[in-house]
Amino acid sequence: MPSAESHFLDLAAPGVRGLTPYQPGKPVAELERELGIRNAIKLASNENPYGPSPHALAAAQAALQHIARYPEGSGYQLVERLAALHGVAPGCITLGNGSNDVLDMVARVFLTPQHEAVFSQYAFAVYPISVQAVGAVARVAPAHDGSRGPAYGHDLHAMAAQVGAQTRVVFIANPNNPTGTWLPAAELEGFVAQLPAHVMVVIDEAYFEYVADAHYPDSSRWLERYPNLIVTRTFSKAYGLAGLRVGYALSHPQVAGLLNRVRQPFNVNLVAQAAALAALDDRQHLAKCVRHNQAGMQQLVAGFERLQLSCIESAGNFVAVDVGRPGPEVYQALLKEGVIVRPVANYGMPQHLRITIGKPEENERFLQSLQRVLA
Ligand SMILES: *Cc1c(COP(=O)(O)O)cnc(C)c1O
Repeated sequence: MPSAESHFLDLAAPGVRGLTPYQPGKPVAELERELGIRNAIKLASNENPYGPSPHALAAAQAALQHIARYPEGSGYQLVERLAALHGVAPGCITLGNGSNDVLDMVARVFLTPQHEAVFSQYAFAVYPISVQAVGAVARVAPAHDGSRGPAYGHDLHAMAAQVGAQTRVVFIANPNNPTGTWLPAAELEGFVAQLPAHVMVVIDEAYFEYVADAHYPDSSRWLERYPNLIVTRTFSKAYGLAGLRVGYALSHPQVAGLLNRVRQPFNVNLVAQAAALAALDDRQHLAKCVRHNQAGMQQLVAGFERLQLSCIESAGNFVAVDVGRPGPEVYQALLKEGVIVRPVANYGMPQHLRITIGKPEENERFLQSLQRVLA
C-alpha cells in the first residue's frame, strides 16, 4: 500500500499537485520568538507602516457590536461608495476578501485546463497560483531586459506574442510587485485595445494610490471602452487595512455577474466593510501616507547609493535591491539583526531583496543592518 501522503497527492486535482503555497513575509512575532528578542521590524509585506485612518479604526470598533449577524452579502454601502468614487454603476463592482480573492474568482470563471493565461516574468506570484489551481496553462512572457523598456518590467510586445486562440486571461500588475515597474497610459491602453474579444485583461492596481507620475493611468476610466477589462484595487496597501482583507474588481456588469456566481457568500466581513468605507473618506490620511512613502523611498534609494547597490526604480511602497550576492543569505543575516525583508529568489531574482518602505527610523535601522551584513 502506498504511503498516505502519496495517496492523497494522487487524489488531488492535477493543477493542485504541482502547486507550492504562496510564501508570505515572516511575521514579527515568529522571529521574536525564535530569537528571543523584542524589537524586530518587518519590511516584508508591503504593509502601510502608518496603519489605517483613525476613522477606519473607530468604524471597525463600532462594527464589532454587530458581528453576531452576517454582513450584508452584497456589501451594499461599500459597493455604492466605490461605484461613486469610480463613476461607475454599482453593478460593476465585485468585492473580494482582499484582491487576491478577486484574482482567484477570475481564474475560476474564465479558465479551464483547456485554456491559457498570460502574464509576465517577475509578475506577482499569485497569478501562477490562481492559474495552476484551476489546471489552466500559464504562458509566461519574458520581461524587458533593459534595452527597450525598464529592466524587469512587463514587455507588452512579448505578452501580446503569447496570446492565442486558447487565451482567456491576461494578468498585468501596474505597478508590478516585486519589481515596482509600471506601464504608462498610452502604452498600456494600446495593448488593451488590440487584444482579441475572447481575452479578459486584468489590470491589478494594488499600489494605485502610491503612484505619482502623470503618465500613470487610472485604467478604471477605460471600462466603457473595453468590456473585456477587469481592474482590481485593494485596501491592503495604501489604506493600511491588510489584516482585514478587502479588495474589489471593477468590470463590465456582466463580468461582475459571472464573478459573483463563484464569490463566497459574505466574503468580505462586516468589520472590514465598515472600516473600508470609513477609510475611503479620510483622503488626508491617505495623502499623508503617500507623502511619507515618497520620503522613505528617497531615504532607501540614497542609502543604496551610499552602499553602491543598484535597485529597480519603483512606483510602489517597496523597492527591490540587488545585493550582489545570494539574496536568501543576506535575508537570513538580516533576520539575525531583527530585520525582516523579503527574498525574491522564488521570482527568479536570486540576488535581489524586496524592501517595504517603513517609517524613517525603520528604514535607517534596515540600512545600518544591511551595511553590517554586507561588510
Ligand atoms: C499586495 C498585492 C495585492 C493585494 O493583495 P490583497 O489580497 O488585496 O491583500 C494584489 N496584487 C499585487 C500585485 C500585490 O502586490
